[in-house]
Amino acid sequence: MPAQGVKSHAFFERALDVIPYGVSSNFRYSGDHDTLVVSEAREGCLFDFDGKRFIDYRLGWGPVILGHTDPFVNGRVKEAIDHGVSFAATQQYEVSVAERIIAMCPGVEMVRLANTGSECTMHALRLARGYTGRDIVLKFEGSYHGAHDYVLWSTAGGDIHKAGNRLRPTAIKKGLGIPEAMRDLIQMCPWNDVEVLGDILHGRGEKIAAIIVEPVLGNNNALLPRPGYLEFLREQCDQYGIVLIFDEVKTGFRIAPGGAREYFGVHPDISTYAKAMGNGYPVAAIGGKKEIMLTFGPEKVFQGGTYTGNVVSTAAADATLERMQSGSVFPQIEKVGGVLMKGIREILSRHSVPHVINGVPAMFGICVTEQQPTDWRDLHNCDWDLLEAIHNHMIQNGILPEADGFEPYFLCAAHTEEDAAETLQKFEDGVKHALQ
Ligand code: PMP
Repeated sequence: MPAQGVKSHAFFERALDVIPYGVSSNFRYSGDHDTLVVSEAREGCLFDFDGKRFIDYRLGWGPVILGHTDPFVNGRVKEAIDHGVSFAATQQYEVSVAERIIAMCPGVEMVRLANTGSECTMHALRLARGYTGRDIVLKFEGSYHGAHDYVLWSTAGGDIHKAGNRLRPTAIKKGLGIPEAMRDLIQMCPWNDVEVLGDILHGRGEKIAAIIVEPVLGNNNALLPRPGYLEFLREQCDQYGIVLIFDEVKTGFRIAPGGAREYFGVHPDISTYAKAMGNGYPVAAIGGKKEIMLTFGPEKVFQGGTYTGNVVSTAAADATLERMQSGSVFPQIEKVGGVLMKGIREILSRHSVPHVINGVPAMFGICVTEQQPTDWRDLHNCDWDLLEAIHNHMIQNGILPEADGFEPYFLCAAHTEEDAAETLQKFEDGVKHALQ
C-alpha cells in the first residue's frame, strides 16, 4: 500500500491513538506508515491527505460500481433524507428496491433487506437451517462470506499448511475467538472439484443444510467456475435437499445486471447481495424462492435489525439499480475492463512473464503462473511476490489495485479509456521495475 506522505502520516497517527491499528476493519491495516488514508474520492479516483491522486481499482473492495460521488445516487439520497431516515417500519424505497431486484435477478421471488454482506450470509444460513432442520453448512476453501463465526473458516488468507488432505480438508479458524464447538457445523470442500464434493455429499449430504458458494471467487483472484460446475452444485443440492446459496456480495450487480444468476444461467435457492447494489452506501439483500423466503417470519426464522431497510441505504440502492436498469452502466465497464485485461496480457507476454488473467472485465485478477489455477490450493503456486512488487510500484505512482493479488481489480462506470491507458503505462513501468 502507499507510503504515506507527511500529512497522511500525521493524520494516521491520530487514528492510531484512538482506533486499534488505526482501522475499522483488520483487512485495511498494512503498516503504521503504509496504510491507505483517504480524504476524498471522485468518479474513478481517490485522494489521500497529501492531495495525492490514485486511479482507484479497489473501489472500497467492490461496492462502487457507478463511480465515487455519483450525482444521480447522491441526489436521490439527499431528496429522501429530508423526509426522515429511520422508522422501524416499511417505507417506499425498500419496496421499490425489492421490486427492482426481483425484476433484475432471474429466479428471485422475494427479498429481505439488510446493511452488510455479513448480515445477509448469517441470515441466509439461519434461513437454510430453519428450512431444512439441518445444521451443517458446506463452504469452499478460500472463499470469504463475512465476519461471523459460522463462516470464518479457511478463508483466503488461511495457512495452507494447516489445510490437511484435499479429499477431506481441515477447517482453519480465521484468528482467535472462534468457538471450537462451531467446527462441527462446517464442512470444507475444495472448489471446482466434482469428485471430492460428490464423495462428501455421498457420505453426509443428508445432514447438510446449505452449500454456500461465491459463484466467481471474488476473494481468490476472481477464479471462475469450471464449465458445468455451478450446474453440478444445483443438481447435487436438488438430490440431497440442500439449500444452494450463491453469495453474490461481490458478483451481484457487478458481473452482470442480474449477477451470477444471469451470467451463468444457474439459479440457486437463495442469493445474498451487498456491495454494488448501493454504489458504496451500506445496503444488502437476501433474495430467493418464495417458499424458502417465507420461512422468515414471526415464530419462524428470525431476521431483523434496527437499520435494515433504512431510508438512506435503500434510496441509494433504488437510484443505483435504476441506473443499471437504464442499460448505460455495464457496456462502459466491460469496455474499459476489457482494454485493461487485454493490455495486461500483452505487457506480461512482452516481458516473458508467464501469466493467467482470471475473472471478467468488471472484476479480474492476475496470476503469475505457467498453469491455470482452479482453486485456492492451486493459487499458492503463483508468484505473488512478483505481482506485489508490480502493484506496489504502481501504487507509488498513483494507480491503486490491491497490492495483494488475491483481491481482484474492480472497475466502475466512471473509469475511462484514458484511465486504462495511464494504468497500462504504469503497469508496464511496474513490470520493468519488478524484473530489474
Ligand atoms: N461475502 C463476500 C463474497 C464478500 O466478498 C464479503 C466482503 N468482502 C462479504 C460476504 C461480507 O460483506 P461485508 O463486508 O459487507 O459484511
